[in-house]
Amino acid sequence: SPPQGYYTRRGGIGEAGDFVTSPEISQVFGELIGIWYVSEWMATGKPTAFQLVELGPGRGTLTGDILRVFNQLASLLSKCDVSIHLVEVSPKLSETQALMLTGGKVQANPEDKSAYMKGVSKTGIPIFWYRDIQDVPAGYSFYLAHEFFDALPIHKFQRTEKGWREVLVDIDPEVPDQLRFVLSPSSTPATENFIQLEETRDHVEVCPEAGVITERLACRIEKDGGAALVADYGHDGTKTDTFRGFRNHKLHDVLRAPGTADLTADVDFSYLRKMVQGRTATLGPIKQREFLKNMGIDLRLQVLLQNSCDTATREQLLHSYDMLMNPKKMGDCFNFFALLPHHRLVHPNKKDKPEAKSPLPPVAGFSELLLQ
Ligand code: SAH
Repeated sequence: SPPQGYYTRRGGIGEAGDFVTSPEISQVFGELIGIWYVSEWMATGKPTAFQLVELGPGRGTLTGDILRVFNQLASLLSKCDVSIHLVEVSPKLSETQALMLTGGKVQANPEDKSAYMKGVSKTGIPIFWYRDIQDVPAGYSFYLAHEFFDALPIHKFQRTEKGWREVLVDIDPEVPDQLRFVLSPSSTPATENFIQLEETRDHVEVCPEAGVITERLACRIEKDGGAALVADYGHDGTKTDTFRGFRNHKLHDVLRAPGTADLTADVDFSYLRKMVQGRTATLGPIKQREFLKNMGIDLRLQVLLQNSCDTATREQLLHSYDMLMNPKKMGDCFNFFALLPHHRLVHPNKKDKPEAKSPLPPVAGFSELLLQ
């Protein structure tokens, strides 16, 4: 909701806000994701240009860490035309991102693109802001959605003896200013359209907007090349009731004071995979701790520990590593999922001439990174 929505009004990410995300915990997280994109760019023959498109960039920390990696690898990327495209609906957060990434030097409503704002990163890379993925220009692109799909609205359904019913929000007639959940008295357009025939669960959450955006990403990758990395807490079509609210880092009743708390539901990766409809290949979901381990987080931690001389910094590094990797913290509940063009995983003419081509390089993160 533009006037009353949580992200347009509050959007409290970070320690002083309502919830904290991996890039806000450790710079290493964004650095390893930056390396993932460079590794995919190299594996596909170093195209002369790519767009990095981030959906829901929050405070801009993740893009900032990725840009630092691109800058450190400037000699490798020197002949590549890189641009950043941020899809963000929150005016407040887009200001925070502009400050973080450009130092605040941005131009509103530029004429040359469908963007609502543009600027240049501190390292000289152009950055554009949009409200919708459809506004981002076509072209070879790397997409990133970190803790984005879980923020989009869901439908909730319940199986009853009379068939599927939708869980709806109603005004409680007994208590003033109080909302309550009710079951639809009959089937609804959503129960007719969003429940899969083969569904075995009794309670289901479906996020059609996440499905539509995933399908768009798959179409764009199929047509123009690139890859998408989706990281979020989620499951592979097994969980039933995950809708919850957070305010000041504590669980918050989702129906109380709407618009003042972060509302979230686990991402159903099996649903996203269905929405790709064979347009691209998919990898994962795999657990965050496996992905980061495969990307070399242990080695990166060792280097940072060796380079830091004070105890407080070393303790902070170890603490943030534990937050990201510990199965009881973020290590197990967060997952990584990728969309890649089919030819990235299988040679197009492998069937005809299996011996003709050298093997394709493995996709970093989803198998162990080969350090050469
Ligand atoms: N990726 C960031 C922030 C995650 S919070 C991080 O990991 O720290 C979710 C982000 O998605 C916020 O930036 C929010 O403003 C944005 N957002 C929420 N709904 C959106 C929508 N429908 N379209 C575009 N951005 C949206």
